Parts: sequence; C-alpha cells; structure tokens
Amino acid sequence: MKIGFIGLGIMGKPMARNLMKAGHELYVYDIIAAPVEELAKEGATAVASPKEAAEKGDLVITMVPNGPQVKEAVLGANGVLEGAKKGQLVVDMSSIAPTASQEVYKACKAQGVRFLDAPVSGGEPGAINGTLSIMCGGDKADFDEVYDILMIMGGSAVYCGESGAGNTTKLANQIIVALNIAAVSEAFTLAVKAGVNPRTVFDAIKGGLAGSNVMNAKAPMMMDGNFKPGFKIDLHIKDLNNAIETGHAVGAPLPLTVQAQEILERLHFDGHGQCDHSAIALYYEKLAGDTIKHD
Ligand code: NAD
Repeated sequence: MKIGFIGLGIMGKPMARNLMKAGHELYVYDIIAAPVEELAKEGATAVASPKEAAEKGDLVITMVPNGPQVKEAVLGANGVLEGAKKGQLVVDMSSIAPTASQEVYKACKAQGVRFLDAPVSGGEPGAINGTLSIMCGGDKADFDEVYDILMIMGGSAVYCGESGAGNTTKLANQIIVALNIAAVSEAFTLAVKAGVNPRTVFDAIKGGLAGSNVMNAKAPMMMDGNFKPGFKIDLHIKDLNNAIETGHAVGAPLPLTVQAQEILERLHFDGHGQCDHSAIALYYEKLAGDTIKHD
C-alpha cells in the first residue's frame, strides 16, 4: 500500500521504517529535513508537504507533537485535506487532546475524508520493535479496515469508541505513567537517604506488587543517571495539560496529576525539558541533596 507518513521524530521514524520493512511504499514528510533524507536513503520517497503526502498515499499517518501540529498538518495550508481524495483515511497516531481529535474528525468528515485518532504507548523501544499498544477512536469500520497496518507497528490495537476515545485512553495512560515514575523516584530517594542501595531495592521488589513496566524501564535509567529521551519531559507536560483540561471539561478530579504536572514544570524551568521523563528523579535528588544514581 502507498502510505503518506508525516512526522519522523523519535517515534515516527521507526514506525515508518517498520511499514517499509513490511513492504509498503512510504511517502515521508517532516518540517525538519534530516529524518526525511535518512528515510529517503532507505527507500522512502521524500515529499514536500502534507498535501503531497496525501496525494501520493492511499492512507495517511501523522505522528507529530500535539494538536496544533496535527491541525497544521491536516487542516492547514498545503495540508492533508488539500491533497486528500474523497473517502481517504487519515490516521493520527500523535497524543493530542480528545477535543482536538474531534475537531479534526469533523473537519475531515465535512470534506468526505475519514479520520481516526490512534495514539500509542510503549515508547521508542516499542516503536522500534513494532510492539506499540495502540488505542483507537473514530468509526469502527475504519479501525477494522486499517487494523492490519496498525498491527505492523503495534503488538495490540484496541478500538476504544467514537472520535477522541483513543486519546482519552492515552490520557489515562499518561497519568498512570507520570504518577508511577514520581512514585519510583520518591521511593528510591527514601531508600538512598536511609542507606539502602536502590539497585538492591529494585531487585527485591520488581517481581512483587510494586513491579511495573514503568519501573522496569525507568528505574535503571535513574540508577545510571541516564536521561536521554525516550519520552521528553516537555511532551509529558503537554499530555498532562491535555489531561487536566479534559478533567476540568468533564468534571473528573485529578489532584495527583496536578502535582505531577508541577514537578514536570519545575524540571522544565530548570532546563530539563528535553530530558527523558525518568528525570523526574532529578526533582527529588535536588530536594534530598542525594542521588538515585548508584553503582
Ligand atoms: P519528536 O519531537 O521526537 O518528533 C515529532 C516530529 O514531528 C519531529 O520530527 C518534528 O519535526 C515533527 N513535526 C512537528 N510539527 C510538524 C508539522 N507541523 N508537520 C510535520 N512534522 C512536524 O516526538 P516523538 O517522541 O516522536 O512523539 C510524537 C508523538 O508521539 C507525540 O504526540 C508524543 O506525545 C507521542 N508519543 C511519544 C512517545 C515517546 O516515547 N517518545 C511514546 C508514546 C507517544
């Protein structure tokens, strides 16, 4: 199949690669030239705009930071809608506010174009290995149609409901991940201050009830003092902002999410916005005057 792919960052580039490996013809676009040139060398065709990606592709996938970028790529000048054919399917795999997904869904529908929100979880390793968890909102028939393509990039793809439901599910995911990283940071700081090596704590508890995919992925980064992203603090701020805005709109209480957001904001202003979100550890390290980093 011919696929227009827009947004070739930490996630989009390996996802596009997996589609190519599975035999699909990729037409790639990003506002930055370097990843486009890199994928072009590997067999993709570089295109000059989202409009051209839609003209050349049967299907269009977007993987950009947030709602404003999705709107720019899909609804903006030289955007997907200017090049899309009637009935064409656009799948946005970025994590954006559910209301933004619904806006783009409606604008697409008004022009006879189909739109799904299909954000992912699983991070860069999941994108590279094709094992992402994909959560999808929109029309069920469109999800069924694109399921096999999604499963090239993912280990699971679940239909969550009408337009926006995929991104509501993703917000739930992001709350759990942020609070889990904060809990691991807080607990490991306690261990360090009380004189127990965090590596020992990790080995002792990872198989018990406190064990989690988040702890398995992020505790080793904290103990190595390695905060190379991964998933950037600034992107997690974006997700929690979207969660808090959605919580206010629907009347869901999010007191812990707001606290996690304050920690992330502090880290952003301390210059760590481009670090992996495991750098939540740095917030605790600064307050405690000690480090989780340990041999
Ligand atoms: P990234 O910053 O590495 O990549 C985003 C890419 O989009 C960049 O290459 C950027 O140049 C491009 N871009 C920005 N605006 C654009 C536009 N208008 N048109 C075309 N390209 C544009 O971010 P990422 O980590 O790849 O994340 C992408 C999305 O996936 C985000 O919504 C993020 O929240 C989500 N996500 C990320 C991870 C992760 O671990 N990194 C995990 C799950 C979900």
